[in-house]
Amino acid sequence: MQNELKVVSNATCTFCGCVCDDIELTVEGNHITKAKNACVLGKAWFLNHQAGEGPVARIRGKEATVEEAVEEAARILVDAKFPIIYGLSDTTCEAQRVTVAIADWVGASIDTTTSVCHGPSGMAFQGVGEITCSLGEVRNRADLVIFWGSNPAESHPRHWGRYSTMPKGLFVPNGRKDRTVVLVDVRRTKSAPAADIFLQIKPRKDFEVLWMLRALVKGLTINEADLIDTGVTLEQLQNLVDRMKACKFGVLFFGMGLSMTRGKHLNVEAALALARDLNAFTRFYANPMRGHGNVTGADNVVSWQTGYPFGVNLGRGYPRFNPGEFTTTDTLARKEADAAMIIASDPMGNFSQAAREHLASIPFIALDTKETSTTRAAAVAFTTATYGINVPGTVYRMDDVPIPLRPAFESPYPSDEKILRALEKKVLHLLQAKLQASN
Ligand code: SF4
Repeated sequence: MQNELKVVSNATCTFCGCVCDDIELTVEGNHITKAKNACVLGKAWFLNHQAGEGPVARIRGKEATVEEAVEEAARILVDAKFPIIYGLSDTTCEAQRVTVAIADWVGASIDTTTSVCHGPSGMAFQGVGEITCSLGEVRNRADLVIFWGSNPAESHPRHWGRYSTMPKGLFVPNGRKDRTVVLVDVRRTKSAPAADIFLQIKPRKDFEVLWMLRALVKGLTINEADLIDTGVTLEQLQNLVDRMKACKFGVLFFGMGLSMTRGKHLNVEAALALARDLNAFTRFYANPMRGHGNVTGADNVVSWQTGYPFGVNLGRGYPRFNPGEFTTTDTLARKEADAAMIIASDPMGNFSQAAREHLASIPFIALDTKETSTTRAAAVAFTTATYGINVPGTVYRMDDVPIPLRPAFESPYPSDEKILRALEKKVLHLLQAKLQASN
């Protein structure tokens, strides 16, 4: 078994939101030795994969059986007054779905890593709506592609080659030659040389530039004096507007350079409104460049079941959406949460000090494929198998298209879904017992 050689075709890389599903893996025993078609990030994801080490479950640092750990985890959640659940962007939709059910049973706040990346985009979608298309449509139709506050050459290396700028498509038969590529950013990134037009705007001026583009699209008059130190000239903006109105199919991909700079959700609302306005003249879309492999799945699954994508509180028996009130960094920093469950994320490694200090002071459960500062501090920690490499299931590409996973080999550890299903069962059991005791 150890040295068995096999090839897995059309495997799916879950390292970034492109979720490339054309990877050919060569697997020797429990090692992936080749990952054909993967980019440098995808190769590192597959070839450096190592199954977690140590026990499958620990309670306060001591090795435990899965049953004991599930029992303790369920007790922590059921006994809490304000439990919170966080993470979810690096696991399957099947596991996410069970997690929402657990959140519902215990009346938790459920939040995903969206709240610290494209959370403002999620708020803007609720306000303006999403003018969206699939990456397949972009590949076959787009003749104007704009990247705003995003550096795909380094963050999503195959986005250009597979979907957005290089491939030959049905209505763009000459591929790159049939497309105009525009990059808007505050600095000249590695993506800039590959663009036809690079607009370097001043930091924190995204909203102003987008609003002026909207005005020009609507035919309003703008003077150079109105540009208020945005770093671009009126001629550059008018040129871009002319191209946007004249294209047959335009798309604006925006990254965290737009959603996490000054203006946040207002910036994204401006980008979405610009795409909406342009549909009076042509077909135009605006899509976020999502980072984690299944962060889009997390948004979708939480939205299916609660109506909102992240920062949702189920404590009153119905969903309430309020980023800032129910998002995890905030409930922790304000010391409101009294128990937590963290799935496939490492908040102890990247949250604010106030949030980390409070998390460390309350009982919490952690599920991860490897040991992290979060699993080390957890009251109950589970080591789980890696989605996509060991675990089958479904993930969502950044354009909301669901993609199946084709795992390479089995892990000695259980999947997140398996642990969460056992946990849901135990939570229900304890809740029923509690109910009976109170009657
Ligand atoms: S672009 Fe992203 S999903 Fe595709 S192979 Fe590279 S890291 Fe993996």
